Amino acid sequence: RLREELAHWSGPAATADGLPVKLLANVADGPSSASAGTEPVQGVGLFRTELCFLNRKDEPSVEEQTDIYASVLSPYSDGRYVVVRTLDAGSDKPIAFATQEGEENPALGVRGLRLSFGNPGLMDRQLDAVAAAAGRTGTETWVMAPMVATVAEAADFAAKVHARGLKAGVMVEIPSAALLAHRMLEVVDFLSIGTNDLTQYAMAADRMATDLAHLTDPWQPAVLQLIAITAHAGAEAGKPVGVCGEAAADPLLATALIGMGISSLSMAARAVRPVGAQLGKVTLETCEAAAEAALGAADPMAGRAAVRELLGH
Ligand code: PEP
Ligand code: MG
Repeated sequence: RLREELAHWSGPAATADGLPVKLLANVADGPSSASAGTEPVQGVGLFRTELCFLNRKDEPSVEEQTDIYASVLSPYSDGRYVVVRTLDAGSDKPIAFATQEGEENPALGVRGLRLSFGNPGLMDRQLDAVAAAAGRTGTETWVMAPMVATVAEAADFAAKVHARGLKAGVMVEIPSAALLAHRMLEVVDFLSIGTNDLTQYAMAADRMATDLAHLTDPWQPAVLQLIAITAHAGAEAGKPVGVCGEAAADPLLATALIGMGISSLSMAARAVRPVGAQLGKVTLETCEAAAEAALGAADPMAGRAAVRELLGH
């Protein structure tokens, strides 16, 4: 029955009482982008550009980067949009031409946006290539930076992206960015919450450590509180705030995120139908009740149980 229901769910996503929700795909390269484009998605919410270069020794030329990015953008030139993330190299994703070896604590080291501090040309060339690919394909293109910690970083990044005529945003993956979301939104056009890293940094628990799974759980009330602060700032500013970490792919948690005021959910393509079908069964009021229950729960297990009961599962 469930399989039939999912096959019949064809979007666009909305709550049972008609609040539209943007469902987007996380992609890694041209082929995964093309196949995600056949799902009922409004676009791509996270193109992890570093995954194109994991086994490259040297930085690809601007021309080669442009070709790769254009292959990811072109399936969405039909009026949909793609959020391109600049290189998030370092820590769990070392890239030979970008990252340093031998850091004491790579998760807290020079990763993501921080790579551009010592090597601004790397960022400039990537942004040139993204802008060229946007021009070539005609796809609406937004660009965001990973691992942003301060409003000044967000402002510097946005200036570079705006100079190329594209929409600029930052990821909220560090608690400092969530706490200052309202000020981030004074300088950028949108925010995207990366719950994998936001959870790691809020709970001080390595996202790769399997024996800390009870801590690296996005249902942790402290993590949800940071998400709620960010969503609230977006609603106040009238600017989009999405979630693009694994949390967005959990149909139960998705209801709570929508109840907090999150405007888009970006996930692995295979999760789109289950999340869309679940959202179609609940009203905004139920989503708001789910948010309240999850935020108020003692721990992740209690939060899941409370939301499950609210949704009649
Ligand atoms: C995240 O941290 O939640 C995220 C989406 O980025 P990545 O998983 O690529 O670090
Ligand atoms: Mg991340």
